[in-house]
Amino acid sequence: MANLLKDVVIDEKSRPKQLLLEKHVDYLLKYGKVSVFRFVTFNPNRPRHGSSTESVWLWITVGLCTECRVRALKNRAFILIRFSNYVCPKDANDFEFCTTEYLRMSGMYWVLTTLAVAKKLDTVQRDQFLDFIDECWDSSSGGYSACPGHDPHILYTLSAVQIAATLDAIERLPSDDIVRYVRSLQNPDGSFAGDRWGEVDTRFSFCAVATLALLGRLHLDDNDNGTDNSIDLESAVRFVLSCQNFDGGFGSRPNAESHAGLIYCCVGFLSVVRRLASIDGDTLAWWLSERQLPSGGLNGRPEKLPDVCYSWWVISSLTMLGRQRWIDSDRLKAYILASQDVETGGFSDRPGDLPDPFHTVFGVAALSLLGEPGLLQVSPTFCMPQQVIDRLGVTSQILS
Ligand SMILES: [Zn+2]
Repeated sequence: MANLLKDVVIDEKSRPKQLLLEKHVDYLLKYGKVSVFRFVTFNPNRPRHGSSTESVWLWITVGLCTECRVRALKNRAFILIRFSNYVCPKDANDFEFCTTEYLRMSGMYWVLTTLAVAKKLDTVQRDQFLDFIDECWDSSSGGYSACPGHDPHILYTLSAVQIAATLDAIERLPSDDIVRYVRSLQNPDGSFAGDRWGEVDTRFSFCAVATLALLGRLHLDDNDNGTDNSIDLESAVRFVLSCQNFDGGFGSRPNAESHAGLIYCCVGFLSVVRRLASIDGDTLAWWLSERQLPSGGLNGRPEKLPDVCYSWWVISSLTMLGRQRWIDSDRLKAYILASQDVETGGFSDRPGDLPDPFHTVFGVAALSLLGEPGLLQVSPTFCMPQQVIDRLGVTSQILS
């Protein structure tokens, strides 16, 4: 029985045909105003800078609306969320804001990367991002969490390193501790756990080598072994290769279903460690090119709807494999552009849905790989501006 084809119908007349870059920048900056914040730890019994307790509390509540200020002064919570842009903390109590704490670090990476690729990095306050990273660092493990008070995780550790790299601040990171953290998560079979609770996934193999590479601590040359052999690279490669399926794709573990997002992670891993020649690129590229639907969009697995984020996972993998031409780039570009929100800015997963920063960064990054003018060139391996990767002197394997 043939695979069921699910797709969307795009209205050719009304769909946006140009990249609305300024709108996307505005959308992200507006989004950033409620996302970029600082946790202020305050002991009400210990006045600072010679001020009285009362005046310090009043200073902390500057910018809050009357209702929130009264509530803050009444409760005197030990930790008060205060926005650096003086945005009312009603937003901090917003259900969606609170329930997305677990991905805030990656959210900041998505916003920052989009602005960097749009050549608008000068619109962000660099120190706010770097201060946030510092507050998310866990000195005992060496890793970073998504938000202050959360457990460290290798995914957010990579995001923190990517943010610092984009802001040209990699030297201020505690590299030795981060390497220690990454190393601590490798299992005897070469796989990596995401955190100390032990979930294993090929995403974490990519996070491990990408983090080490950006820090300049991944050593591929045998001559480097013994000087700083941070992970067991050979067993890490063996594990990732064991996750390739008969259809050419990769899953999260051996024998797990092929999935475009995990294919990006495995191909990205092999690109970082320069082992792309170890896989059957033709079969894999065939599976990836089968993801394109009549609308031009790409899905992540058979029988799924198209989604802008898969535009990135698929086109970046094909680019690393030197087979970008195996799909129709013009139709893919038309699908991505059709997924822009013409009113608010931002990209959604598919035309007509609500936009979000996640689909915005992957929409913009995919357009960069497709040669959209006005954007910085993106590294298909790291999903960061190529000029940042070049500045760090990091190289990855891209087949031609
Ligand atoms: Zn998506």
